[in-house]
Amino acid sequence: MEIINRPQRMMSAMKKLRQENKVLALIPTMGALHEGHMSLVKKARQMADIVVVSIFVNPTQFNEEADLEKYPRDLTADAALLADFQVDFIYAPDSSDIYGEGFSTFVTVDEVSDKLEGASRPGHFRGVATIVTILLNTIRPDFAYFGQKDAQQVAVIKRLTEDLAIDTEIVVMPIVREDNGLARSSRNERLTKKQRNAASIIYASLLKAQNAVENGELNASELTEMVRKNIESEPLAATDYIAVVDNETLEPIEKIGDSPVLVAVAVRFGEIRLIDNIILEKKASSGI
Ligand code: AMP
Repeated sequence: MEIINRPQRMMSAMKKLRQENKVLALIPTMGALHEGHMSLVKKARQMADIVVVSIFVNPTQFNEEADLEKYPRDLTADAALLADFQVDFIYAPDSSDIYGEGFSTFVTVDEVSDKLEGASRPGHFRGVATIVTILLNTIRPDFAYFGQKDAQQVAVIKRLTEDLAIDTEIVVMPIVREDNGLARSSRNERLTKKQRNAASIIYASLLKAQNAVENGELNASELTEMVRKNIESEPLAATDYIAVVDNETLEPIEKIGDSPVLVAVAVRFGEIRLIDNIILEKKASSGI
């Protein structure tokens, strides 16, 4: 496994491998790796000859300086883990090499970026879209892997690669969860034990919504209220939003129809804000 810092060096290493007809895979991350990330790595390892994991805590996607500073960084531990999973390259550029003097080009994905997480974190998806475009241009992978955990990020990246004719296939992997159902996240480490136990209410509530749809409940506001009531039955939880939207456009829907519906939530436990989601499909679930 090789660790590369310089963009130019990364580009030339990847160019050489492409000339050898190698299939390249990229997993973009911000480090602090856990099982959720590793599920993407494992899938990439099965599909590609060369697996690249980028580790870059991208400043342009943080709207609070304190949040950026607090983000956990441990390249040594991450590298040890990635070596165990037969990763070929870690790409860990410096911020100054990505956003050098005079940097002034940003990628904005309209509509899909403005809602949900975008509404709570202005500029977040502009930062995400910009760094992902830079990484895809640097590495030019055949496949890039993203987790369903960040459902809106998936919608933004899919829109972006389609609109800008980027020749990389986006592979989306299911949410990896802790034993109690809580979606794996580096933020979970910052929860108290009590909060971490209580946070199991999030997935339990999403499963209730799934169950309701299976039993014929197709009304979005009924489902929203059901999830809200359930989550708010936990005194430590404070809901930020609960959305029942089209999985591709993220536009609100009134009734579950034939296309997949995303139920996405953001919930605070003390200072920690957690997100989670589930995709519901009428056909598969109601057995029609
Ligand atoms: P991050 O380092 O938080 O930017 O995450 C890097 C990638 O890992 C993103 O595509 C995330 O959606 C994905 N990821 C993070 N947590 C999970 C999880 N619990 N299950 C599946 N994918 C995840």
